[in-house]
Amino acid sequence: QQEVWAKLKDEPTFSSDGEQVELAGNIGTPDDVHGVLNNGGEGVGLYRTEFLYMGKSELPSEDEQYEAYKSVLEQMGDKPVVVRTLDVGGDKELSYLDLPKEMNPFLGYRAIRFCLDNEQVFRPQLRALLRASAFGNLKIMFPMIATLEEFRQAKAILLDEKEALVADGVKVSDDIEVGIMVEIPSTAVIAKQFAKEVDFFSIGTNDLIQYTMAADRMNEQVSYLYQPYHPAILNLVNTVIEAAHKEGKWVGMCGEMAGDSIAIPILLGLGLDEFSMSATSILPARTQIRNLSKEKMVSYKEEILAMGTAEEVVEFIKEKTE
Ligand code: PEP
Ligand code: MG
Repeated sequence: QQEVWAKLKDEPTFSSDGEQVELAGNIGTPDDVHGVLNNGGEGVGLYRTEFLYMGKSELPSEDEQYEAYKSVLEQMGDKPVVVRTLDVGGDKELSYLDLPKEMNPFLGYRAIRFCLDNEQVFRPQLRALLRASAFGNLKIMFPMIATLEEFRQAKAILLDEKEALVADGVKVSDDIEVGIMVEIPSTAVIAKQFAKEVDFFSIGTNDLIQYTMAADRMNEQVSYLYQPYHPAILNLVNTVIEAAHKEGKWVGMCGEMAGDSIAIPILLGLGLDEFSMSATSILPARTQIRNLSKEKMVSYKEEILAMGTAEEVVEFIKEKTE
């Protein structure tokens, strides 16, 4: 098994019938890039920048962030790197920000909501990213987008910082794609409208599942409801992919589901373009996809989307892929 994987390390990812997808890695720090490259990652599909902000007593400076982003981009060369802007709140607390305690932190003041309200935190991160963009293939992604206004506002702030840097003679890449995480059902439902304005989507199933099923991702007593293969989740994923493809945009997935061996055949059939997962899942996923016919998976799509329960979906996939 290990040998099969090693051989595939520098290969692109094709299904048995020759359809290509991209397999990328999720990282939290610049040191994680080795793991992605050593495991055959074709890009970084999610750089969780929270770690720069956590475990310290004050905000990281713009320069400190710039160095981290530049290091990741340089190590990845031409390969795409999707950097997610700060996603604090929810389960990720920053002691020095002194945010008020909330009854429902996962439904509260977090991620883009916090950043749009605290431009003194958001703008330095965007400047650091723009300055680093000259060193690789950067894509910027905003987390927890619930409305089009949030996306427009975040993008306007990004463009404002870009103009200011360019006016100062700083080199900034001219083709940075700007996309969003789809992890709130409202955004998945109106993906068609979003698809006209974003450059890409990345589906964050860790949160999308908890918000769709109204089941806290950390609460064991309701974990039976945390169902990645629930037809509601699959239909939302399908809505997002169809909407994006109609506008010629690409769709990735960076939640745990992207590396799951039951989910992979389904996602291939739904037309997912990029799968981003923990580094150690990349080669097993590539091996699995090489043995799957995309055409066949596409032919099961309508039947799967019409199923009533997650259990039926799992049974069906097991039967069809054994
Ligand atoms: C997600 O919600 O699926 C995701 C990738 O983000 P995080 O796990 O960091 O909330
Ligand atoms: Mg999330």
